[in-house]
Amino acid sequence: MINQKNNKNFFIDISRSIIVPVVAAVCFIIWAFYLFKYPIITFPVIFIIFTFVYVLSGYVFGIVLLTFAIPVAFFVITPDTTDNLLLICETIWLLFVFLRLEHYRGLWTASKIKINVENEVLDRDITIIQSSILENENISKSTKQKIQTFQKLEQIIKTLEENMDSGEFINIIENVTRDFMGKGKFTIKRQSSKDIFVNYARFNKSPLLISNTKEDNRFSEEDYKDICSIIVMPIEVENNYWGTIKGYTKDKKEAFNDYDLRQLSILANILGLTINNSILLKQIETLAITDGLTGLYTKTYFTERLEEEFERVKINKFPMSIAIIDIDYFKSVNDTYGHLAGDNFLKQLASILKKRFRGIDILARYGGEEFAVLMLHTTSNESYSILEEIRKGVEGKNFIIPIDFYTTKKIKKTISIGLATLSDEKDIYEFIKKADDALYEAKKSGRNKTIIYNN
Ligand code: GH3
Ligand code: MG
Ligand code: MG
Repeated sequence: MINQKNNKNFFIDISRSIIVPVVAAVCFIIWAFYLFKYPIITFPVIFIIFTFVYVLSGYVFGIVLLTFAIPVAFFVITPDTTDNLLLICETIWLLFVFLRLEHYRGLWTASKIKINVENEVLDRDITIIQSSILENENISKSTKQKIQTFQKLEQIIKTLEENMDSGEFINIIENVTRDFMGKGKFTIKRQSSKDIFVNYARFNKSPLLISNTKEDNRFSEEDYKDICSIIVMPIEVENNYWGTIKGYTKDKKEAFNDYDLRQLSILANILGLTINNSILLKQIETLAITDGLTGLYTKTYFTERLEEEFERVKINKFPMSIAIIDIDYFKSVNDTYGHLAGDNFLKQLASILKKRFRGIDILARYGGEEFAVLMLHTTSNESYSILEEIRKGVEGKNFIIPIDFYTTKKIKKTISIGLATLSDEKDIYEFIKKADDALYEAKKSGRNKTIIYNN
């Protein structure tokens, strides 16, 4: 089948490319040769008829041409054989010329259609590329926006962490919220508030968005006043209510929308985490400087603070005293009632000391059953009377200590105190040693007394 088809195409090609042009050329030569000898008017007539039919017929030219041309040719045939030959030759070569013309016109039309199709494909490709460029631009715009949001949040966290302890903390949150949201006015409400919107969000445990107060009937017009839109977001720290951010706008153009609600929710989460971090950090710091049994400062913290104040006093010149307090015959408590009872006694004594000393005094557990206190801006005499008062208070107190699960025991104990007031010591260790020496003196001279260091 394929071979047959190929053969057919081969013969058509041969006839089109060689036979038909050769026949037309031969006809033209014959026609031209005889035309010189017998000039007749048939050429223009047939040419005009051919052209006319060609123009009118368009694509069906071939059929129409053959149907009309040949009868026309024979119509004008004269009895003269030469004329007849001339006419047939003329018809054939003209037919060839017009067929060629038609062939090229066909090619031209096909190429035009092809170009049009290609252009359409090109247009479609351009549209696809343009829309993908637009999409990419949108993606890069939103990515840029996200990066900017993250950078802003990073800055906010830094600002909050730096100002956590400042009295301006609430103001700072309000300012960073306004900057982050880029519109409206914001206030922070803590635990209790008379604000109806804040309470609504707080007790429903969900945010509140009123984009247009004119179209929302959850609250009365009186509550809305001249406000155009409201946004409220509770802040939680470790799943517990901490406070609420409330924002409002008076200008319709700045009305809050769903996007603002999402932004504010992100900010509220960050605020909750940052506040929680700062609380945890403070707890860690406190734990690091606090003695586990008594809740007083550790020896390390006491020494650090003493070092700091020792440097400060060189510039500011103020009186400063330290005292070391040691329980008399404490070992007997452990030996008689057990170590746990001893611990309980230490806790009770620490609590008494904490209450009796002033807030500015640095009270620490200095050793096992020894306490140290740094008294700033306190002269030797002032310190002595404070310490004596405390010593007498301990002497007169009945300590109730647990013996076992059911039994308690009332005991009395005394303390000895060594006191030193800063004079010309070269470092804190010399200063501490003086208080230690005074304590040794108190123990040596009978216990239950306060001794001031004296050269
Ligand atoms: P002194 O009057 O000479 O001070 O006699 P003291 O028995 O108190 O002797 P010292 O000051 O050397 O006290 C040391 C005792 O304190 C030893 C130990 O049994 C007790 N101790 C030290 N640290 C702790 C503690 O953390 N818990 C208990 N329960 N006892 C402690
Ligand atoms: Mg001791
Ligand atoms: Mg002791």
